[in-house]
Amino acid sequence: MNQPKMQFNMPDSDSIIDRVIQFLTYQKDVYGDFDRDLWNKVEIEIPKEMIMNSEEPQSKENINISKQTNSVSSIAEEEQSDQTLLEKMEQCQTLDELHERCQQADFLKTNLENTNLVFGVGNPQADLVIIGEAPGRNEDIQQEPFVGRAGQLLNDILKAIHFKRSDVYITNIVKHRPPNNRDPLTKERKLSLPVLLKQIDLINPKLILCLGRISAQTLLNTNQPMKALRGSFHPFRDKYELMVTYHPAALLRNPQWKRATWEDVKKLRDRYDELGCEP
Ligand code: URA
Repeated sequence: MNQPKMQFNMPDSDSIIDRVIQFLTYQKDVYGDFDRDLWNKVEIEIPKEMIMNSEEPQSKENINISKQTNSVSSIAEEEQSDQTLLEKMEQCQTLDELHERCQQADFLKTNLENTNLVFGVGNPQADLVIIGEAPGRNEDIQQEPFVGRAGQLLNDILKAIHFKRSDVYITNIVKHRPPNNRDPLTKERKLSLPVLLKQIDLINPKLILCLGRISAQTLLNTNQPMKALRGSFHPFRDKYELMVTYHPAALLRNPQWKRATWEDVKKLRDRYDELGCEP
C-alpha cells in the first residue's frame, strides 16, 4: 500500500500572539461565537462532600441539567417513558428506525436548548466505525458529524489511508451539541451510551476507531490517559477491535501529535486489510 504524506496546515508563525489568535479563531470556528453572557453567569460550587454520588463538579450548568420538576410522580413518569423509549430502541432492526427513535429522545439532549440531533453518517454496513466526542456548532447546523475544521482534517486522514468518508460510518458519543464548548458530562455520556452501542451493533463493524480521550474513556470504561490507550487494539465487547488515536481538533492545536496519529491510522488500515474488511 502506498503511504502518502498527510497534508497538515502548519502555523505560519510561532509567535505567542499568533498562536493565541490561531487558537481563538479555531475555537470560534468550531464552537461558534463566544457567549458574552457567560461572564455574567456565576458558577455555584457545592462542596463535593455535600453531594451523594456526585461525579461532576456541581456548576450552575450541571444543576440546570437535572430534571426541572418538583413532582415525584412526574419524575417517575418521565423515567418510565425514557425506559420505554430505550426498550423500543433496543428492538430497532435498522439504523433508520433507531434514528427516528432518537429524534424523540429528550434524554439525549444537553442543556443547550434548540439543538439538532446529530445521529451519524456514512455506510450503514461499514467495517470501520469512527467515534468522536460530541457535535460542535457546524455539526449541529448541518446535522452531520465532523463537518467543521476538525472534520476537514478527519477527511484528510481518511484519504491518506485510502478511505472515502462514505466507506466508513462516523458518529459521536453524545448526539447533541454541548454548550460553551465544554466536554460532554459523565451523565450525558452515560445516557447516550446505550444508543451508541445499539448503533454499533446494527452496523456490526470489525473495527472501531475512537477519536480522543472522551470517546476512548467512555467506550473502554476507563480513566487511563491517551498515552496509555492509543496505538494498540483493544478487544471491545467480545466482537470488535478498537483502536484509539488523537482527536483531529487536538491535532489542530498540537501538530506534534500528527506523527503518532499517522502511525495509529496506518496500523488501523493494515488491520482492516488483514481482516478482509470491505469496501
Ligand atoms: N468533534 C467531535 O468530536 N465530533 C464532531 O462531530 C465534531 C467535532
